[in-house]
Amino acid sequence: MSGIDLRTINLVTGLMCVVMGTVILGMRRNFPSSIQGLGLWGLGALLGMLASAFYGAERLMPPSLAAIGGNALALTACGLMYFGTQRFYAQQVHWQRWAGVGAISLCGLTYFAVVHPDYQMRVALFTATLAGLFAAHARLLWRQGRGFAARFTLVVMGLQTLIFVARCVAAFWLDQASTHRFAASTIHNAYFVSFSFMVLLFLVGVLLMASERVRAEFEHMATFDSLTGALNRRVLLLAGDQELLRWQRHAHPFAVLLIDIDHFKQINDQHGHLVGDQVLKRLAAALRQPLRKTDLLARYGGEEFLVLLPVTDEATARELGERVRAAVQAMPSDPPGCPCTISVGVSGVHEGDTTFDQLVARADLALYQAKNAGRNRVVMMDNPTLPSHGRTP
Ligand code: GH3
Ligand code: MG
Ligand code: MG
Repeated sequence: MSGIDLRTINLVTGLMCVVMGTVILGMRRNFPSSIQGLGLWGLGALLGMLASAFYGAERLMPPSLAAIGGNALALTACGLMYFGTQRFYAQQVHWQRWAGVGAISLCGLTYFAVVHPDYQMRVALFTATLAGLFAAHARLLWRQGRGFAARFTLVVMGLQTLIFVARCVAAFWLDQASTHRFAASTIHNAYFVSFSFMVLLFLVGVLLMASERVRAEFEHMATFDSLTGALNRRVLLLAGDQELLRWQRHAHPFAVLLIDIDHFKQINDQHGHLVGDQVLKRLAAALRQPLRKTDLLARYGGEEFLVLLPVTDEATARELGERVRAAVQAMPSDPPGCPCTISVGVSGVHEGDTTFDQLVARADLALYQAKNAGRNRVVMMDNPTLPSHGRTP
């Protein structure tokens, strides 16, 4: 460690910051606008580069100016990175609080640079401020972070916090008032190198976090209907195929409910499409209530929903269909005078079924019969004459 040239490490840190900051800011356009924080992370990295430039240019300006300028830029850079993570997790950014902490710290640093020059006190104050900021950053990642990238970044921030604390304590026996910033010692070299490395690891970590978020959002979009939060048709049909295979192997019965809103066009025509959308959302929530955890609800088409009921015989499926119908009927009428009812077609798996589509087709026939019989009712294909529990609208 003693052979390390700290000016070179400072230069490498600055170069790393400018490369990573440019990459993050450049990639920002490729990420959906729902992913926040990249701008602040990138800006933080670029300010980090400016801080390195100030420290490195101490021969071109009064040393106190290089120290104060470098410290101010480094504190702001680390603050921006913290705010970037807050934005990423949709947290409120309390920048005033941290600006206050930074301003107090900077006053102390200026005092120990200009009025009463003391390098030891500057190191202690600077590393203590950064330890607090990094600890808050690590705490945020601990509370909000999920997945590998967030854990990775948390470890980086946690380690760097400990290093700041250690460097702060070490200042009292390692440094003198007149020690120079780039004076070599094993502990100071280790601190300098680790900080440089952690900056790189942190910026890689946040890029990974953003990429993981994009993947999760795309996965969500490919799985769920954005309006109602129900599964989409493709996912349910795949689940239905799997259920059919399980039935063929283990003979567990299963069933489907095909649900269609009654006279939904009238709701749209009378109140507009936006109100229609809200009704669809509320209806999806009402449909979920009577269902069990293992049942899958999907939006099958515009105002049609399909429910897959695993390990369920036809009698139970019909009962569940009736509970679902009653739950929708019990929904408060919103907008007033706009009652919402559904018709439900039920079908269980039958001997000889070879595709899931056959069940859905039978449920569709049952639904057609429910509509013809007056709507707001449940019809099962094998037993279309079952008495309805519903009102005819
Ligand atoms: P029925 O009782 O016979 O099912 O009558 P209906 O009016 O519900 O059936 P129809 O098929 O005539 O109309 C369905 C309507 O659903 C027409 C369409 O504009 C509306 N719709 C489909 N998808 C959406 C959507 O995402 N939002 C809104 N607001 N309306 C939708
Ligand atoms: Mg329809
Ligand atoms: Mg309809």
